[in-house]
Amino acid sequence: MDFNIFTLVGEIIVLIAIILIFLISITFILGNYTLNNDKLMFPKLLLLALNLTYQPTKNIMKFFKCDELFVDRVSINLRNRLNINSFKKLNAKDLIVILPHCLRAKNCPAKLGSSGLSCIKCGKCSVGIFEEICERKGIGIYIVPGSTFIKRVIKQRPFKGVICVACPVDLNQALMFLSNYITQGVYLLNDGCINTRVNENEVIYLLNTVKPTTNYTPEIVNA
Ligand code: SF4
Repeated sequence: MDFNIFTLVGEIIVLIAIILIFLISITFILGNYTLNNDKLMFPKLLLLALNLTYQPTKNIMKFFKCDELFVDRVSINLRNRLNINSFKKLNAKDLIVILPHCLRAKNCPAKLGSSGLSCIKCGKCSVGIFEEICERKGIGIYIVPGSTFIKRVIKQRPFKGVICVACPVDLNQALMFLSNYITQGVYLLNDGCINTRVNENEVIYLLNTVKPTTNYTPEIVNA
């Protein structure tokens, strides 16, 4: 039988399309199951499907005018649930919190530095409450204006776990970027560049979950 390069290329394209359709179906079926059930079903397979089909699935949702944030919400929910048991075992000194600076109040007096916003706990927004708890427990806290700052702050002290707060799309991308760490993600309740809100109890619950570190002085790796 003659070797035909065009037939081979055609077969490879069909194979890739079948695998893609299979993975997208997995994302929809297991994703819906994950959001609506307490139990997880094939979580590793779902995570693989989410990672490989993120953009095509979003494009399909957009084309059919469905919830484009579905993939982000599934991914965040799944990562949180896969990590929660390890997260609960963390010591506060091994945890950092990354908050978006849009959480600050409109008339926030804090200054922006190389590690993000330096909150002075003026009491005008929820960031001050988180700052207070983090200070008491020895948790690192960073209030950042964008993802470039995330790359910067993760070099500032060693850590094993991280709580991220952001809008669903940014949060999912941050959790994917930080997938080598024990992450927990909480998404914002509204969009905007300022005066956004988060479920404070959810963040405080996570901050209080880790064991406190007494007399802890953070080790600065790269100021
Ligand atoms: S609590 Fe902190 S972040 Fe919030 S407005 Fe005051 S200084 Fe700004």
